[in-house]
Amino acid sequence: MSQIKTVFPVTKKGESYMKKTIRDIDWAGKKAVVRCDFNVPLDGDTITDDIRIRAALPSIEYLLENGAAVVLMSHLGRPKGEPKPEFSLAPVAKRLAELTGKEVKFVPSDVVVDDNVKAAAKDLKAGEMLLIENVRYKAGETKNDPEFAKELSELGDIFVQDAFGSAHRAHSSTAGIADYIPAVSGFLIEKELKFLGEAVNNPKRPFAAIMGGAKVKDKIPVITNLLDKVDILIIGGGMAYTFFKSQGYSIGKSLLDEEGLDLAGEILRKAAEKGVNFMLPVDVVAADEFSNDSPYGVYDVDEIPDDRMGLDIGPETIKLYTDTLKTVKTVVWNGPMGVFEMDNFAVGTKAIADCLAEIDATTVIGGGDSAAAVAKFGVADKMTHISTGGGASLEFLEGKELPGIAVIDDK
Ligand code: ADP
Ligand code: MG
Repeated sequence: MSQIKTVFPVTKKGESYMKKTIRDIDWAGKKAVVRCDFNVPLDGDTITDDIRIRAALPSIEYLLENGAAVVLMSHLGRPKGEPKPEFSLAPVAKRLAELTGKEVKFVPSDVVVDDNVKAAAKDLKAGEMLLIENVRYKAGETKNDPEFAKELSELGDIFVQDAFGSAHRAHSSTAGIADYIPAVSGFLIEKELKFLGEAVNNPKRPFAAIMGGAKVKDKIPVITNLLDKVDILIIGGGMAYTFFKSQGYSIGKSLLDEEGLDLAGEILRKAAEKGVNFMLPVDVVAADEFSNDSPYGVYDVDEIPDDRMGLDIGPETIKLYTDTLKTVKTVVWNGPMGVFEMDNFAVGTKAIADCLAEIDATTVIGGGDSAAAVAKFGVADKMTHISTGGGASLEFLEGKELPGIAVIDDK
């Protein structure tokens, strides 16, 4: 691993400072308590996608190679403060052992930390790793209970925060633990902050954000924050219709965020005021039903039929958007352009994905479905960075301070 000095950009607006990383610690003889994001999809006890486990490997391997004993913790699903076997981390221990070729000790416990777990952590030697049970078996976890945080902290000497996907939560294992032992970041957090932070706060220009998807309400604050930073804002997906409606167009049966309607109008005014090139679709693909088998057609945005719903951006819009994207140097993309899960309405999302794969620009993908889309179209490895944290990357783009990042010690 090369010794690069990383500037930690900005968890607070406009402020940049340095945070400690696992490179700043001499690990010989020390025990790391590492918060990972092992919240993997399961089918029974089979892991259907292990990308989150693989993403955690660089930090884990660095720690093991540098003489640390490694205690790993994570949540999985929502057991709601009770031990539930279907949310056990046991399958993760098994997969982690396969991926690393090393033994992963796993000590099941209904209360996460009991005497057996404490003993196993105490006996853990340099170069060995132990995974403890799902931290959300304990009700205190999501309440950031200090007692539970203290118990977790007593399993080791130094807290390593490497769960970006949970860093927007102030829980015992993501934030509270840092009240008791020093906290540093792992490589995954470092990478997330580097790419998301540099894109948002120090972008090469022109800088474009592409916003789409379905969660309009969640994303309006993000758009508001990005208006201060971007040169171009491109809108697609289900959220476009709230903007159309705010301008008086009829949108048929398309997705509408009633509550966001006024804000959408305000955003359009602000964009004009700030000189941001705010781009909305000029045509859409609209269907009778939310189904791939539904009859559909292409319509200009002022001609969406009352009995149809817009499910993708249209061909004119694709041309307009891709021509624009060919001129930019930084792109942040959050939210698909259409219902990309259905082939008939995946065209717009695929066109944008292909375009980002080709352009000579920093391309950052945030959002679970956007990441899935990029993977589906086979261009994931052409992107500069794909964020592993859906909600966390949104809050980061919103300009919020993430509690799980704030607790990491400054250099
Ligand atoms: P991300 O996870 O990337 O942040 P979202 O969760 O906000 O994105 O949105 C993704 C979902 O939005 C996808 O399941 C997609 O089918 C849906 N979607 C996109 N465009 C539309 C549309 N026009 N109408 C309804 N749903 C849409
Ligand atoms: Mg999503």
